Amino acid sequence: MSHPFLCHPDEVKSCGACCGLYNYRENSRAVLTERLRRRSEIFSHYRGELEQYRRAVAALEGEKLYETIYNCEFLGFIDKYEKRVGCLLHPNGNNGRDLRGISFYGADLCREHLCPSHEKLTTAEKAVVIRLVNDWYLYGLLITDIDLVKSYLGHIQNGVGEEFDPHKLNTNSALALVMQSFFSWKEQWPYRRNEAQRFGKYYFVDTEYHIARIEYKRLGLKPSPYDGIFLSLASEFEKKDEVLAAGKMVRENIDKVIALYGTG
Ligand code: SF4
Ligand code: SF4
Repeated sequence: MSHPFLCHPDEVKSCGACCGLYNYRENSRAVLTERLRRRSEIFSHYRGELEQYRRAVAALEGEKLYETIYNCEFLGFIDKYEKRVGCLLHPNGNNGRDLRGISFYGADLCREHLCPSHEKLTTAEKAVVIRLVNDWYLYGLLITDIDLVKSYLGHIQNGVGEEFDPHKLNTNSALALVMQSFFSWKEQWPYRRNEAQRFGKYYFVDTEYHIARIEYKRLGLKPSPYDGIFLSLASEFEKKDEVLAAGKMVRENIDKVIALYGTG
């Protein structure tokens, strides 16, 4: 939860997903921003009186998506510009004192935990997300969505015939823009229904989670080559035309990336 490369890659973003950041039924950017902001303000007020802090922030909690995951009350904004989400108990913000021992997970786990993205994403895949996603809300959603990153880059790599070279993003701004527009769908995707209790490919019923499926057969379709992408974007399709239109959006984006990859 504090490893520099993926958790805090630079000064304009960071991730707090494994501290329970998104594990709320209401997990829009606006709602999470307000909760993180209030926690940081209250932490400054009660610095050194952590039990009072805990009581004060309890009122900010919302209904959880998945009961089993702990939503840590010590996750807040760690910079005054609200660009980076992080641990309010970390030594960097407490004159070198590590206060994480009082947290639910305890100091050792907080210090040493590495989510699967560290191991499962390749160096190139990590570099693409870090280069293209420059805000905490979207960054945390994407760097932990291994399926989406691999599936998207896999389609591109099939088209260009090589492993995606992240250095191209530094010299080819048109390429970067098209890929950024794809990643923005993780937050704004027309086929996601906000009322559905979905988080990427997962949906939640009572205290259980399940993996969602798209019922292509019922809609009179064969499975889409973009099925993994659709699921990661929490798509809920009611009509055949919606699947076709979503497929067109993804295909056009990937085709543009492939066309731009060799230019610039
Ligand atoms: S979810 Fe992964 S990348 Fe994000 S803070 Fe936790 S360990 Fe770091
Ligand atoms: S105490 Fe641990 S779980 Fe809580 S915000 Fe800090 S690192 Fe995350």
